[in-house]
Amino acid sequence: MREYLKFYIDGQFVDPVEAKTAEVINPATEEVSGIISVGSVADIDRAVAAARRAFPSWSQVSVADRLDLLRAIQAEYAKRSQELGEAVTEEMGAPLSLGCGFHTGLGAGHLQTAIEVLERFEFEQQRGPSLIRYEPIGVCGLITPWNWPMNQTCVKIFPALATGNTMILKPPQMAPYSAAILAEILHAAGVPAGVFNMVQGSGALLGTALTRHPDVDMISFTGSEPVGVQITRDAAETVKRVGLELGGKSAWIVLDDGAMAANITNATVGMMGNSGQTCSAGSRLLVPNARMEEAIAAAAAAANSVTVGDPQGNFAMGPVVSKGQYNIIQDYIAKGLEEGAQLIAGGPGRPEGIERGFYCRPTVFVGTNDMVIAREEIFGPVLVMIGYDDIDQAVEIANDSNFGLGGYVSGEDADACRDVARRMRTGAIWVNGGFDFHAPFGGYKRSGNGREWGEFGFHEYLEVKAIIG
Ligand code: NAP
Ligand code: MG
Repeated sequence: MREYLKFYIDGQFVDPVEAKTAEVINPATEEVSGIISVGSVADIDRAVAAARRAFPSWSQVSVADRLDLLRAIQAEYAKRSQELGEAVTEEMGAPLSLGCGFHTGLGAGHLQTAIEVLERFEFEQQRGPSLIRYEPIGVCGLITPWNWPMNQTCVKIFPALATGNTMILKPPQMAPYSAAILAEILHAAGVPAGVFNMVQGSGALLGTALTRHPDVDMISFTGSEPVGVQITRDAAETVKRVGLELGGKSAWIVLDDGAMAANITNATVGMMGNSGQTCSAGSRLLVPNARMEEAIAAAAAAANSVTVGDPQGNFAMGPVVSKGQYNIIQDYIAKGLEEGAQLIAGGPGRPEGIERGFYCRPTVFVGTNDMVIAREEIFGPVLVMIGYDDIDQAVEIANDSNFGLGGYVSGEDADACRDVARRMRTGAIWVNGGFDFHAPFGGYKRSGNGREWGEFGFHEYLEVKAIIG
């Protein structure tokens, strides 16, 4: 049983103002894995006051000293990386190889990237008669989801720190362990008191308190669209900057060429990674109608090859995060059947032989883009394959979505892929498996308005000042 009963405020692990706890459920076993303290508005007030007090000095610390601190954090993070990965596995159900691999690797990657960017970032630029200065915005409220917990926290904390801001992190209630360990890492590395603070508990209560707080200068939020809308409203009265990283229904266009079957296999297996709980997952797979039979065979075989089971064991896919999420996914699978989509792999219920835990089956439908399962974000291992007649139609289908977060194009001719990518209305498009920590990540349309990762992520936390003459 884990126990994380303290919050991190003003450089110390402190008791909450009111003693109140919540249980955390292990999605693999449905059993209680530990307890956390859940905070009240008074805890947020303390944390904000600490961050406010720390801002004048932290914002003036030299780049060299900030780099030293980030490198000290890097050393502490490396020491506890395995432990972080185990915590991620326990809180949200990712297979241990993924928890200790890509999950913690993303956090480490954002830290290393923040160091590389800070080493050469120009906080002052002379442009004609004007001196342009980039200055930290102030006290930042960071509100994060459970699906890639180390990615979401690290992609906010390290750019915010590097640019001289102070902050309050409100981690997800369902995945609180890795955030608690991260607070210990930051403390051990010597982050000055008040620069980083963390309060656990309810988003509706604490997230709202942060968002409405007159002493918080910006909110960086990653999560669902309805909560993003609510945060925008709540932040309006105090004219806060709000960075939104919301959901997606990203299209993966597979070109009609000799690599088609292999690319469909990759796209299908990729969709099931992290149990489909990835905001930028390629959840609409667009394939040539002329070769639909071949496409179905490849996608079905790929989905059926994804092993599902205990995240502590040697399986490709673990459970989804919670009973609530399991039920939502089951409802979408039922909806897909009801609206006449053709089920070619997986389907309702748990995989055969699994009686406990929030396990879903890797599921593939063939459908059309007007179906609910093609329009709404399912956030589970459910792929919708859609046929296109020609590339113009593929692009049209890809762009016919309320979301615009990610996109994928796969084909033998990389130039042809990039031409298709240029026509897609989304914030990031990965061609043939490309990956880059320095590339911006964020959404068009209802997928949000922010751009995180790399240098772009720095600008989220910076004001622009002009000194003219
Ligand atoms: P969520 O329900 O929106 O929750 C996200 C965070 O917001 C949690 O910490 C939550 O607290 C908090 N929250 C809830 N209500 C709030 C309110 N009224 N005011 C302020 N904060 C509030 O999202 P989720 O279910 O955890 O995560 C899944 C969603 O995140 C998906 O839509 C996914 O696409 C999106 N996502 C986007 C990105 C991206 O970069 N674009 C990345 C990952 C995930 P609790 O702990 O109480 O729930
Ligand atoms: Mg939620």
